[in-house]
Amino acid sequence: MISFHNITKKYTDGTTAVDSISFTINKGEFFVLIGPSGSGKTTTLKMINRLIPLTDGTITIDGKRISDYNIHELRWNMGYVLQQIALFPHMTIEENIAIVPELKKWPKENIHRRVSELLEMVGLDPNTYRNRKPSELSGGEQQRVGVVRALAADPDIVLMDEPFSALDPISREKLQEDLLHLQKTIKKTIVFVTHDMNEAMKLADRICLMNDGQIIQLGTPDEIINQPENDFVREFVGTQVKIGTDFHLENLMTSFTDDNPNLDKAIPHSASLEEVIAQLAKQDKVLIKKNGTVIGSLNRQILIQHLAKTVKQGGHENV
Ligand code: ADP
Repeated sequence: MISFHNITKKYTDGTTAVDSISFTINKGEFFVLIGPSGSGKTTTLKMINRLIPLTDGTITIDGKRISDYNIHELRWNMGYVLQQIALFPHMTIEENIAIVPELKKWPKENIHRRVSELLEMVGLDPNTYRNRKPSELSGGEQQRVGVVRALAADPDIVLMDEPFSALDPISREKLQEDLLHLQKTIKKTIVFVTHDMNEAMKLADRICLMNDGQIIQLGTPDEIINQPENDFVREFVGTQVKIGTDFHLENLMTSFTDDNPNLDKAIPHSASLEEVIAQLAKQDKVLIKKNGTVIGSLNRQILIQHLAKTVKQGGHENV
């Protein structure tokens, strides 16, 4: 259990990044910190592993102040995943994953076994990947290694700072699924920073919505959506959570018949639902392009049918 008691962080230039916040993260909980840029999420996260020293208040883990832990003990028992995974380029995937177990002086065979187990957990064949260098992996695969590296020495707590925000939507979704599955099986306490409400809704047991260094609302995804405490929450949720965010243009499109399609007017296959709606409000049909070629088209009627189906299924339930 991680508890914040009246935590304030003032940077040396006078900025108050976090302003007297108190909350508790339960053991085994998937806890998401969300808020606009500059609201204090990263500062809050980094105070937990003492990467940023706090100014006032106390943080305890299992009742003991973090300042009373040996700093190595504290950090080794906490996995940490960043937005841009910094795998060591000259080391193999196995060596990268083995860093903390090595520091903890685990026996070689245990480390070897653990690496296989972890790679398998995220769908990377150990025989294929263990001896590769990071540059021989795609961005999504590297990020997956980054996630399991944080789990390598079986920490109780994993801190994640926008770990998927640099990924394309498909890899991102896959990794979110992997992480949810992992969380169900290994039951770590995960503290996860994001600015994406859809991601928060999908992953969180509880969401802590911050603004200006303060907690605006802390609750389950359902409470945040259905019992917003004020207009800020309502607006933050409203602008971010959309009906049918499991929306993939490619699943809806039909083949196109135009011999000479106008690429300039086509919308990218990764376009958001809003962009598509905006286009289809103006015209009956849009062309969809991928890698510089038109791959299909979508007409207004199909989109409306899709939206109707999503609303029937409960709208944001699907996010
Ligand atoms: P978020 O993660 O929500 O974007 P941060 O915790 O990074 O927010 O930042 C909170 C506030 O603290 C912002 O106003 C930011 O500009 C400020 N801040 C962050 N790091 C520093 C720093 N090292 N020195 C001064 N101000 C900082």
